Amino acid sequence: MTKQELRKRYLQKRADLSEAEYVHLNFLVYQQFFSGIDLSLIKVLHTFLPIAAKREVDTGLIVERLRREFPHIRIVIPKAQLLTHTLEHFYFEGPHQLVTNAWGVPEPNQGIPAEPEKIDLVLVPLLAYDKTGHRLGYGKGFYDRFLKQCNPTCVKVGLSLFQAEEKLEGTTELDVRLDKCVSPEGIISF
Ligand code: ADP
Ligand code: MG
Repeated sequence: MTKQELRKRYLQKRADLSEAEYVHLNFLVYQQFFSGIDLSLIKVLHTFLPIAAKREVDTGLIVERLRREFPHIRIVIPKAQLLTHTLEHFYFEGPHQLVTNAWGVPEPNQGIPAEPEKIDLVLVPLLAYDKTGHRLGYGKGFYDRFLKQCNPTCVKVGLSLFQAEEKLEGTTELDVRLDKCVSPEGIISF
């Protein structure tokens, strides 16, 4: 299956989830994340903020608990540059900082910029992933460009409501691989 065909399939899989399934699968991902990801050395954590209508993993649950129980971890969120397909990054201060962009993504409208080299762990959005850690995004390469700028020691953690594909086809050396992926069933390390 080509990248484009697989994107279509996974968008459909998401759309087919009932609201109750979506809420339940999100909760399992949230639980797996906190029971299986070592946060002890993490000082700066980058996360996407989800488009709920697109059934992305609801990182809001994770962010709330991080802010409550891990107040020493600084949270960074992206702002998309739609023309260049690149991301800018800002330290997250709270909901007051957010506005919804043209694609329905909540983003910071101002804040203190964060350098990719400072980030210890990135929560990576995806449509599909495989058993070797290859990842399929929405098709614009935003995260491939961003993850390339991070330190080699930065832990790249995919979040998915679904299981891994056996092998993604058509990946290239520009596709940055994940180190781990959290799904409702558990965490795979690649
Ligand atoms: P996605 O990762 O969102 O699924 P693709 O991997 O298909 O999307 O990448 C989308 C486009 O972005 C491709 O044309 C790809 O070559 C380009 N791209 C990916 N990473 C980079 C990069 N580091 N520098 C420049 N172009 C890139
Ligand atoms: Mg890619």
